[in-house]
Amino acid sequence: MNSFYNPIFISKVLKNYLFNIDRQRRFNDEELSKYQNKNFKKMVQFAYTVPLYHHTYKKAGIHPDDIKSIEDIKKLPTVSKYDFKNYYPDGLVSSKIKKSKLIEVTTSGTTGKSLSIYVDMAEIVNGLFGYIRFLREHDINWRKDKLTIIGDFAPHTAETGYIYKGIQSQFGKNLFLKNIQWLNTNDPPEKVMEEIDKFKPDFLGGYTGMLGHLALLKEKGFGQDVSPRIIASTGSSLSKSLKEMIERTFNAKVFESYGSTESGPIAFQCRYGKYHIMSDYVYLEFLKDGESVESREAGKVVLTKLFGNGTPIIRYNAMNDIVAPLYEKCNCGLSGVLIDKIYGREDIALYSLDGKILLPSSFGEIFSKILYELKTNKLTDVRVIQHSLTKIEIKVVIDEKLRNVGPSVEELFSFLIRNFKEKLGAGVEIHIKEVDKIDRLKPRIISKVDKTKLNITGYA
Ligand SMILES: [Zn+2]
Repeated sequence: MNSFYNPIFISKVLKNYLFNIDRQRRFNDEELSKYQNKNFKKMVQFAYTVPLYHHTYKKAGIHPDDIKSIEDIKKLPTVSKYDFKNYYPDGLVSSKIKKSKLIEVTTSGTTGKSLSIYVDMAEIVNGLFGYIRFLREHDINWRKDKLTIIGDFAPHTAETGYIYKGIQSQFGKNLFLKNIQWLNTNDPPEKVMEEIDKFKPDFLGGYTGMLGHLALLKEKGFGQDVSPRIIASTGSSLSKSLKEMIERTFNAKVFESYGSTESGPIAFQCRYGKYHIMSDYVYLEFLKDGESVESREAGKVVLTKLFGNGTPIIRYNAMNDIVAPLYEKCNCGLSGVLIDKIYGREDIALYSLDGKILLPSSFGEIFSKILYELKTNKLTDVRVIQHSLTKIEIKVVIDEKLRNVGPSVEELFSFLIRNFKEKLGAGVEIHIKEVDKIDRLKPRIISKVDKTKLNITGYA
């Protein structure tokens, strides 16, 4: 049954739309936390009808009635990826919901481990509203302005689930907003640029790596008509220099958004560049050894989603993101909690000789430097394997068309060696090997170092 032929669903969506989008503007902090409390209690009650949570809470001797406010969240046990796998498929769905009404989405395979959860259409639409809120904060009108969104539409990804299986199958491809262009980040940047050039968007949203490639192409004279006002980057945090390069080449402002498959949108940068958590959608804990961290201190994110009738996400500890909160106020007037820095995923880490943990934000800097310093996008794919603290293997795929354009492959290799040594230590051996293809389902960054034996000194 198509939900969009259902008048109750439509009126719910419209009501949601009107109330949802401006909630962080309309509500002050006190109202927002009241709203949070109400929804959190509702979600815990709902989760109790889902076998995964029912069993976990019973085992821990906790009942939803023990939860009076979000302050009580620590009374609940956390849930892991293992729990989700264990209860898949039927144990992830409430006994009150028909599973056939839900859509299954799978988390991306960047670390080689995928995970499935269920969402309903209202959740997908809500997630979209979160993104619209972000656009509105930057004066982009999603009905009138032209938007290009470059998603990861490989067959197994969450975006394919959300957009193709969800939104487009419901709205139909043509009905769904002619002012939005959907492109695939797995296509070559030249092809993507050509499409954008024809569409001429006011807003361009995509993954950090793709945006860097596009900026480099723009610098080289491609995409003459591509001049969005606002660019939004997602996926991994943007280094300062790459951000400056993208802003300069496109003559546009760049802002970042942060989200996950499990939760949908989590946070976005306001016009002052501060990260605001969508505190009406999600509640984040930042933990170090089980304790909450201080402002600006890095902690592991434990995620709680405050809406939806699919698989509830309550104290989910397997996002593995390392994030530092910022307990300050922003002058832009949005309510909710701020984020100081997103370091990236803890399970995509390398370890330096002096005991530092390098997360994606850190080695992402190296790959962005290839774009803004070496000015080449001939490196199309890469895989880094840390065999030991002193031995790194890097597999690279070179774009055949660009092999003899710009800096040579040898220059690129010595650039990589120099930069990896700078991050990991001068005594580290780095071997680079050119390969034809990299398996996209396998992790791009692997460390075989046994971190339990390391003397960790902090994040790089
Ligand atoms: Zn702000």
